[in-house]
Amino acid sequence: MARTSSGKLRRSFEIAGAAVVLPLLVVFLSNSLWGYLPLSRNVAKVPYYVHATNAMRDLQVAVLRSALVVQSRLLDAEDGASGVAAANASQLEASFEAVDDSFSVVRRAVDEWPSVRERIYPVYARWLEVRDQARMLVGTRNQRSHPASPVVASGGTGMADRVGLRLSAMDDVTVATGVASQEVEALDTGISVLNARIEDMIATVTDDVNNRLTESRLSSQRIYGLTVAIGLMVIMFIMYVNIRLARYVVDPVNGIVGSITDFRRGDYSARTEVARRDEIGALADAFNDMAANIEQTHAHLSSLTERDPLTGMLNRRGFDPRFERQLQLAENANREMTVIMVDVDHFKKVNDTHGHTVGDEVLVSVADTIRNCLRAGDFSARLGGEEFVVCLPGEGRDTGMTVAERLREAVARIPFVNNEGADFSVTISAGIATYPECGRSRGEILQRSDEALYAAKTGGRNRIQFASANDAWRKAG
Ligand code: GH3
Ligand code: MG
Ligand code: MG
Repeated sequence: MARTSSGKLRRSFEIAGAAVVLPLLVVFLSNSLWGYLPLSRNVAKVPYYVHATNAMRDLQVAVLRSALVVQSRLLDAEDGASGVAAANASQLEASFEAVDDSFSVVRRAVDEWPSVRERIYPVYARWLEVRDQARMLVGTRNQRSHPASPVVASGGTGMADRVGLRLSAMDDVTVATGVASQEVEALDTGISVLNARIEDMIATVTDDVNNRLTESRLSSQRIYGLTVAIGLMVIMFIMYVNIRLARYVVDPVNGIVGSITDFRRGDYSARTEVARRDEIGALADAFNDMAANIEQTHAHLSSLTERDPLTGMLNRRGFDPRFERQLQLAENANREMTVIMVDVDHFKKVNDTHGHTVGDEVLVSVADTIRNCLRAGDFSARLGGEEFVVCLPGEGRDTGMTVAERLREAVARIPFVNNEGADFSVTISAGIATYPECGRSRGEILQRSDEALYAAKTGGRNRIQFASANDAWRKAG
């Protein structure tokens, strides 16, 4: 009975496919979540950094301009022209406003950037000090109407020094302008410190950018490592799935193919053993059921074509291949085989005397008697009419003679009754030939046994005759 497929094999393939796709999904998601998102977030901040850095550089420039205006104001005051001084005073305030505006721009640029934003306030406070200092210095100078000291470029640090600006005057100049030299020096220092603080803020931004880029690079390396690791795992898993599939699918399929091949070559008993409840198990069951049906049908058809319907014995078609096979076995095993050809004596007379139906009953009884006289491994056939043949594999002349004699005696003892109720009996004659003594081929051996049978007939019937020409006739008593 074929079992129905549960679709287990199909599900196994689906699970295996999903298991292969899963690591790929992990790679994709981890790339997205762990690598791409932080990377894109950091990249998105780059214009923000650029804007903030630019704003700080602008602030530095504004401070520098303001310092230049202070310098210029001190020089103008030296002339003592109050109109020019007033004009310069408004320029001075405008330059201070420009610095304030630049601070506003910077503050907005880093508004959502707490680490930098907090650093602005002390810088701005510093700026306010410097601004007040500058106002006071310029105011003092105007009041005294002394010539301003020339501002001399000198060595130093900071933005002001780099562009050649130095507000601090040399002692002689300071004395000449009437401005306390330490005040000018303090203003100069204030601007330098302010400039240094702005540089610090820029460095903070730069460090932050560098940190983020380093983080992105590390993230990329992690993702690369993870991708390679998972890729290797996927490859190993696919190899494992291949091996499992070979065992799980190919091996049982090969088993089924082997059984089908045996079956096709004529082994109708070939079956396949697959103890599974999936599609392959269903295939094996279907094959086994089909093979059983064909074997049964084949056996039935064989019995129809290879057997004599009257006696149930093999006919010539059934006998010949079996005889050939036994001959081959005898040859391979180098052993003997004996054939006994049997014919009912004067059978025509039986038919003529008792009728054809009684004749048939005689044939059936003779066939039964022959069968009963044989051992397992021996076989017999009705070759036609009232002629039978017996084959004794592995037996030689002596056993053949003994069996033939036993047959002859047994048939002679069968009590027949005709339609009128009268008893009668029949006799048989037998010709015996052996392999390899009397011949090696099927035709040769049957021919020799036929000749021996003919000799038995011509010798008087109800007797057995061995095929050897030198053998003496043996007649029943
Ligand atoms: P011999 O001793 O020389 O063998 O003589 P015989 O009469 O037995 O031989 P013959 O060949 O002359 O006759 C055989 C007879 O067997 C002829 C035929 O009608 C009969 N016969 C053949 N087949 C059957 C059968 O199936 N049933 C019956 N009742 N008779 C058959
Ligand atoms: Mg006969
Ligand atoms: Mg005959």
